Amino acid sequence: MAELRDDMTPFEAVTYFFDTVADVVEMDPATRAVLAGTYREIRVQIPLRRDDGSVETVYGYRVQHNGARGPYKGGVRYHPSASLDETRALAALMTWKTALVDVPFGGAKGGIQVDPTTLSKPELERLTRRFMSQVSYIVGPHRDIMAPDVNTNAQTMAWMMDAYGQRAGHTPAVVTGKPVELGGSLGRDAATGRGVVIVLDEVIRDAGQSPGDLTMAIQGFGNVGSWTARLAAESGYRVVAVSDVKGGTFSERGLDVEQLIGHQRQTGSVVEFPGAEPLDNAALLELDVDVLVPAALGEVITSANADRIRARTVVEAANHPVTPAASQTLGERGVTVVPDILANAGGVTVSYFEWTQNIQQFSWDEQRVNGELARHMTTAYRKVRDYAQGSGCDLRHAAFAIAVQRVANAAHLRGYV
Ligand code: NAD
Repeated sequence: MAELRDDMTPFEAVTYFFDTVADVVEMDPATRAVLAGTYREIRVQIPLRRDDGSVETVYGYRVQHNGARGPYKGGVRYHPSASLDETRALAALMTWKTALVDVPFGGAKGGIQVDPTTLSKPELERLTRRFMSQVSYIVGPHRDIMAPDVNTNAQTMAWMMDAYGQRAGHTPAVVTGKPVELGGSLGRDAATGRGVVIVLDEVIRDAGQSPGDLTMAIQGFGNVGSWTARLAAESGYRVVAVSDVKGGTFSERGLDVEQLIGHQRQTGSVVEFPGAEPLDNAALLELDVDVLVPAALGEVITSANADRIRARTVVEAANHPVTPAASQTLGERGVTVVPDILANAGGVTVSYFEWTQNIQQFSWDEQRVNGELARHMTTAYRKVRDYAQGSGCDLRHAAFAIAVQRVANAAHLRGYV
């Protein structure tokens, strides 16, 4: 039975969302045990040779949650707080996300517990190659496919592809989010942010609103946050605040996102953007805006601040930014929360397009990628909305209900459980 506690770990929190659905659909205990747990978890030791010749030992994780619907799929993050529990949580979210947007993958995630800002480029390359070679026995284009996440990018994927290729021969489909020159897909870089804006547009249209009337604050200005800002501004939203790990920047009139991206490129951060006011990360979350987009790390909206969130719509561009207790508080206060497994699924959707292009050795133009992305995201959103309206539940519950039942069906059809 689902039991709500304030002190849940990330994996307990994601399992709670699963359990609430399993309770409602009266899932049989055997299926429930299979879907609640992870299939395979590995921790690898990575001796990292620093440029000065010293060796530091760090640890990496890969968790494969469920493969009933296809090969395991999920990103790899480099972060000091990466842990087995967090990786499990993120892997489970990938299972539900791929099922919800109906791409033929299972769910996985990886992480290396390291602060990449302290590493040089050659050190990052050695770390990445060593990690890939140590997990290469369980990955592959039809087994488990990696992708970028926090603090990893197209360059990281290029090194991973190369390291895997040294063992298995040229295999671009073993990772997605690669540079376009190496078989990456046009549109993959922008895909997660584009998906966020596609779903948000649908949500606000259903609420009878239009982008030009709405203000937005975005926490995080990396791949997801900066693309969300750029595409939201193009759609007409007034982006009044953004932040990164160093702090935030605010302008009541709206930030010029293109100029801000230039400023970030030059200085390494969004702080001290000329003509705007400074803002800290906690204050950004509580700003009086219409739409709040957490696009950085997990668990930033908790029972400690859920009462003070003033936005009427929260779009979970990050994974697991809202704890279960906070999600309940926001729901009781009438705030619409667009869940992560829907809001940020654009990334894995275009990763699926990249993987198919690699396997077919045929590339799509960007228009086709963006058109197919919009179709997948809109279909998924409308199914979630209709389910929520039909059963009187919130969007998260509806999204989990659809996803969980798809995965359970696949597991039954295969005879897995
Ligand atoms: P990224 O490394 O490109 O960017 C992360 C951003 O968050 C940076 O601007 C960083 O400065 C900021 N940040 C880090 N710590 C912060 C803090 N304590 N306070 C405020 N800002 C902080 O990572 P990304 O790929 O943009 O991923 C962001 C989130 O989106 C993650 O939760 C990730 O799991 C999720 N996500 C990413 C993708 C993808 O395609 N990259 C897809 C789905 C979900």
